[in-house]
Amino acid sequence: MPSSRADERAATASQALRASQWEPAIPEGTRRWACDALQRFPRGLLTDIDGTLSPIAPTPDQARLYRGIRPLLRRCLDAFDVVAAISGRPALDARRLIGLPQMTYVGNHGMELLAPRARIPAIAGEARAFEGAIADALHEARARLSGHEGGLLFENKGVTASIHYRLASDPEATRAAIRRALDPLARRRQLRITEGRMVIEIRPRVDLDKGTSVRALVERHALACALYLGDDRTDVDAFRALRQLRAEGVSLGIAVAVSHAEAPAALLAAADITLASVAEVPRFLRWVLGVLQPA
Ligand SMILES: [Mg+2]
Repeated sequence: MPSSRADERAATASQALRASQWEPAIPEGTRRWACDALQRFPRGLLTDIDGTLSPIAPTPDQARLYRGIRPLLRRCLDAFDVVAAISGRPALDARRLIGLPQMTYVGNHGMELLAPRARIPAIAGEARAFEGAIADALHEARARLSGHEGGLLFENKGVTASIHYRLASDPEATRAAIRRALDPLARRRQLRITEGRMVIEIRPRVDLDKGTSVRALVERHALACALYLGDDRTDVDAFRALRQLRAEGVSLGIAVAVSHAEAPAALLAAADITLASVAEVPRFLRWVLGVLQPA
């Protein structure tokens, strides 16, 4: 049956609207699949913070949300059943940076959970047992690196610790020096060393990371759809968890990589959608909100 003139007009208007709006640069099949997944309930928006919602700053304290992000996250709180930030920062620090107490915050790479409006985070008991060992390892590493040139920032976050070397004049040599100092200390204390963007992390040897956090949130809230945004190596664990949950038929996860000059190949390889930079994140969230609440 031929379509009516009204239908044709509606189709033309919708095409014109789409042409005027920003859309992620993805194949049509992926776009349709993502739009369909986003219609499922309950749905969650899970996101990393540094390098994803905020441009990387010289020090963690100087990080600020990219312009326009906070009001968009507020709108996402209405459009999604769960909105959670999953970060290497302590959960309270993550909430301070985002400034929305209605959100859920998973801090210290999955070892802390700060529920909406909660006063203090719940800390995984098995991780807490390592707090003393982490403080000792950080202290000793600092002493060993005291002869090193400046530009190092030591951060004790309780159940994890970080050594930032972004401000070092020769980051690659500094990275190697930190590993030389830290690796034997960590081995002796049953600690794990992981790396991110100009940061080396000291973590307890427990099975908790951004991947286990994503799985826990999806299962706790029975999320039929989970959208995850991240920019770094530790986010690959989250992407893999989404893929596994999809394979198990538990949830449709959409993995969104926020790219940058040194984006890890594993992150880009595991992503369903890749955004060019943090600057594209507000446009992407606006597009997602448009898909969820068509005008
Ligand atoms: Mg990040």
